[in-house]
Amino acid sequence: MHKEVDYIIVGQGLVGSWLSYYTLQAGKTCIVINDSHTPAASSVASGVINPVTGRRIVQTWMIDTFLPFALSAYADIGNQLKTTIVKEAPVVLIHPSAQMQESFEYRYHHDNVYLQKYKAEDVKAFMHTPFGTGQINQSVWIDLNTMLTSWREKLIDHHQYVDERFDMEDLKLKDEGVEWKGIQAKRILFSDGIGSMQNKYFKGLPFAPNKGEALIVEIKDLPNQAIYKHNLSIVPWKDQLFWVGSNYEWQYEDAKPSIAFRTKMETALTQLLTIPFKIVDHIAGLRPANQDRRPFVGMHPAYNAIGICNGMGTKGCSLAPYFAHALIAHCEIGTPIHPEANLDRFKLSLL
Ligand SMILES: Cc1cc2nc3c(=O)[nH]c(=O)nc-3n(C[C@H](O)[C@H](O)[C@H](O)COP(=O)(O)OP(=O)(O)OC[C@H]3O[C@@H](n4cnc5c(N)ncnc54)[C@H](O)[C@@H]3O)c2cc1C
Repeated sequence: MHKEVDYIIVGQGLVGSWLSYYTLQAGKTCIVINDSHTPAASSVASGVINPVTGRRIVQTWMIDTFLPFALSAYADIGNQLKTTIVKEAPVVLIHPSAQMQESFEYRYHHDNVYLQKYKAEDVKAFMHTPFGTGQINQSVWIDLNTMLTSWREKLIDHHQYVDERFDMEDLKLKDEGVEWKGIQAKRILFSDGIGSMQNKYFKGLPFAPNKGEALIVEIKDLPNQAIYKHNLSIVPWKDQLFWVGSNYEWQYEDAKPSIAFRTKMETALTQLLTIPFKIVDHIAGLRPANQDRRPFVGMHPAYNAIGICNGMGTKGCSLAPYFAHALIAHCEIGTPIHPEANLDRFKLSLL
């Protein structure tokens, strides 16, 4: 294959999809190399952007910037793909304990932006609510499977996608740019999720991946316009199927679904729901998380044709569009990358 492009992009999860999207938006050319047989965190994620987090129900990092950016980005890519990718879906909180109920009440009365009261009667027909309920507004659900599949089809139609495992042995560094299997590029950007942990240029980054699992459950009588959050989350997936999860395992033997998780979720669902449910699938993946909980975005300090956009952790849906855009803008017009996400903070470990 002989070809010249502006960018080679490795990986087509959320990040690689957005990198290729913004490359093309900038009027540049790209080829995406993605091994569809390597599991992607993006294809098991529930697709939720929740503006608040944790037991104290505080706003997530820079959500005032990321949320509007993400809403407009997912709407735009949906328009290009002629489908709806993003939907507003309030989070209905089913407080799992008296402490969480108190925490909600506290936040509701202090610095409240996103919380509102929710009538427990509205879910009582489906769930046990001994500690009451609450609601988070401005949360959204992204249909990741539709987005990733449709974007891949578009790349394939335009001869911009290669389904192959990228091997570093095949990459040649040139005076200007790089070459991979006869394809010349000005730059190569890595968005291969946890694959980057083995990348000789980026293995010095403090990756701290964690495993997450989910059940796909049919709950015929549950309204699918909201996300329900207890100790577990129940997220509309497709028709009357719901995504139910998750967990954060820092020590794991493999990335496969485990019996322990299935049993735990099944028990939790039985205790929470008052209506029947049926488990139809069980999925698992590795989140490309890192120790300082901020993404890795930028070009290598010693090799200016090699870059990375990674480390999205638990927040890929909100972070990926923003930081993919930031990296392409940085490459094309020199826009600085936000210092908390900039790769420069690890310069010493990369040299
Ligand atoms: C159970 C679970 C639930 C989650 N829920 C949410 C959520 O609700 N909201 C949210 O914001 N985030 C969520 N996340 C986190 C989110 O999934 C990640 O932040 C995000 O998907 C990371 O995207 P990525 O593109 O960096 O990596 P990935 O999605 O892992 O993509 C990497 C891609 O690179 C490819 N690849 C890897 N190695 C190679 C190679 N050598 N050659 C070619 N291709 C390669 C893989 O096939 C894959 O397609 C969840 C994660 C999990 C596991």
